[in-house]
Amino acid sequence: MKALMKTARGIGNIELREIEKPSIGSEDVLIEVAAAGICGTDMHILNDHSFYTPPVVLGHEYAGTVVEVGEHVSNIRLGDRVTSPATQYCGQCYQCKNNHVNRCTAEGKRILGVSLANGGFARYVAVPEYVLHKVPDGLSLEEAALAEPAACVVRCVAERSPIAPGDVVLVQGPGTMGLIATQVAKAMGAAKVIVTGITSDKWRFEIARSVGADMTIDVLQEKDAVGIVRGETDCAGADVVIEASGSAAARRQALEFVKTTGHVTLLGTQGSNTELYLDHVVEKELTMSGSWGTLPSTWVMTLRMMASGQLDVKPLITHRLSIDEWERGFELMETQQAIKVLFTELE
Ligand SMILES: [Zn+2]
Ligand SMILES: [Zn+2]
Repeated sequence: MKALMKTARGIGNIELREIEKPSIGSEDVLIEVAAAGICGTDMHILNDHSFYTPPVVLGHEYAGTVVEVGEHVSNIRLGDRVTSPATQYCGQCYQCKNNHVNRCTAEGKRILGVSLANGGFARYVAVPEYVLHKVPDGLSLEEAALAEPAACVVRCVAERSPIAPGDVVLVQGPGTMGLIATQVAKAMGAAKVIVTGITSDKWRFEIARSVGADMTIDVLQEKDAVGIVRGETDCAGADVVIEASGSAAARRQALEFVKTTGHVTLLGTQGSNTELYLDHVVEKELTMSGSWGTLPSTWVMTLRMMASGQLDVKPLITHRLSIDEWERGFELMETQQAIKVLFTELE
């Protein structure tokens, strides 16, 4: 089968290779991939900016149909439609024992499409049963391929941010994470969601409004974006700010947008030092939170939200490509012309 692999350390070193169909262990399931999305992490791997262990088949955002099950697989059956988180936790380490399987510290931990576990940018992927989730009826496999980024947002926003009914929530950055965060904030009862971005985000603002944003602000055009937000919030500022752009400027502005006694959620990393005026945290009595990965329970919540329509990821799928067109897919991501690129033809 064709598989899109990171073949060695360094910038680039991604190629489409012909490899053997994976064989499965007794507790594994073989999945025929229906759709797999390119993530910011894949871009970091392309540019050698993040952790990975080559050679590895990329692709940790996927969904597909079960075509083979190992002899000790008990709940998953042939023909089931499934998806999963990337991290294959050990269940034995201190963090796992304390219900933080997302922060499993086991050495040699397998991370699908990143480290020691070939991912979904291929026709078939082998995954252990214990991490799988069944895709609910009514949810397409294309949508389910976005369950992984959606669950990361649900973890950070629904499980780690104090959003209450009536709140004004400000989301910085209308990319995949920000557009999902907008919907999760609404589902949690936010009265108003304001999405901020830069001038090149104009077309993303339209999608933001279509998925529930009440207002969008171009922070490059508007000299007094903070004043506009105050005008929308009884001069107080946003109750919760969700930083989903990963830019230093946005992180600095988050501390200005947020009200005194408000909360700032960091949705994703920046990969370098951020210069911040942290006295704001003291003076404004702020709380801050972040999160990494997902818990199994996060996936139950996420898939229910997606199946019910509370969370609609369809408007985020901007491109569907064959794996042969992978270079175009990565270029669309690199040049920020796409929100989510899915490979839907994998041979
Ligand atoms: Zn991802
Ligand atoms: Zn562990």
